[in-house]
Amino acid sequence: MDARITLLPGDGIGPEVVAEGRKVLEAVAGRFGHKFTFSEALMGGIAIDQTGNPLPPETLAACRSSDAVLLGAVGGPKWSDPRADVRPEQGLLGLRKELGLFANLRPVTVLPALAMASPLRPESVAGVDLVIVRELTGGLYFGQPQGREVTPQGRSAVDTLRYSEGEIERLMRVAFDLARLRRKKVTSVDKANVMASSRLWREVAHEVARDYPDVACEDLLVDACAMYLIRRPADFDVIATENMFGDILSDEASMLTGSLGMLPSASLGRGRPGVFEPIHGSAPDIAGRGIANPLATILSAAMLLRSGLGLAEEAAAVERAVEKVLAAGHRTADLAMPGQPKAGTAEMGDLVVAAL
Ligand code: NAD
Repeated sequence: MDARITLLPGDGIGPEVVAEGRKVLEAVAGRFGHKFTFSEALMGGIAIDQTGNPLPPETLAACRSSDAVLLGAVGGPKWSDPRADVRPEQGLLGLRKELGLFANLRPVTVLPALAMASPLRPESVAGVDLVIVRELTGGLYFGQPQGREVTPQGRSAVDTLRYSEGEIERLMRVAFDLARLRRKKVTSVDKANVMASSRLWREVAHEVARDYPDVACEDLLVDACAMYLIRRPADFDVIATENMFGDILSDEASMLTGSLGMLPSASLGRGRPGVFEPIHGSAPDIAGRGIANPLATILSAAMLLRSGLGLAEEAAAVERAVEKVLAAGHRTADLAMPGQPKAGTAEMGDLVVAAL
């Protein structure tokens, strides 16, 4: 395969971890006989510093003309003044909107080698292998009206949770298609006992489910889901939900694994390119020290291979290599137990390449 991949390293530890993702993709190209052409573009705080725009037009054009995008992270204290007109996160939201990325997939897998890293008991998280499919371009974060005003009664603010049936249907189809490749179960999460948007969500979820008789479908209220993610996390396969519920549940679910440094994600629309990125931020507290865990980015590169380029065998090879490195006892600082030796960012990347 001949594929063009745009790299958006971004800020903080972004460039450090993206370099390791690239290293692994280059190793995959070598081993499987593909040709990957990489180009790097500015995004986030560094793009504000150099161009005044968190998502410069050249960056968007580079992403549009590529087959997949690998992103590091954006943001940091330098750009976090709440009064600033331009912020790094605008680059992220802009990229999602411009590329029509409506589905965010966050797999949460507890590898046996890391069961001890979870704040939950190892027996509670054994066998966890779930994916949260979060709606990314609708709901409360985008609905209008949104804003605040001063009324005779004092300050008042509003956000709007609106979904159309088309937005719900396309998200549910992503979830059901994914479940077909996994354990064939979808949990649709809503708040249908209280909210009108959730009742529409549930109705459309059931309509889509009729097209997938081979996939089991259950409804769960979001508050119950938050509880079951702790009580019986291994029972979940694919969780499909709206934007804000998904935002909150996926951070909760990330703790099943114990480290943000392990969790990849994919943001997909119709067609190419998808954007693949670790769920963690730019970690300014450890940036520039060569100690960040690159595995979330390397596992995002595996998702890029599978969902972005259709290279399932190559993706599985990367995932197996990561498991092998962890099973051999190698740990970055965020995962190491007291007294255990700590591998640096580049060393961890080299170990994965060697395991490939
Ligand atoms: P963060 O994810 O950057 O860091 C939280 C904690 O986890 C820190 O202690 C950090 O050192 C640690 N951590 C994160 N990734 C790690 C890794 N790969 N290896 C080892 N340790 C890791 O979240 P934060 O501190 O709340 O945010 C920092 C900045 O990142 C903010 O500006 C925020 O807006 C931004 N952010 C960006 C994204 C994104 O680009 N998608 C996501 C979240 C936060």
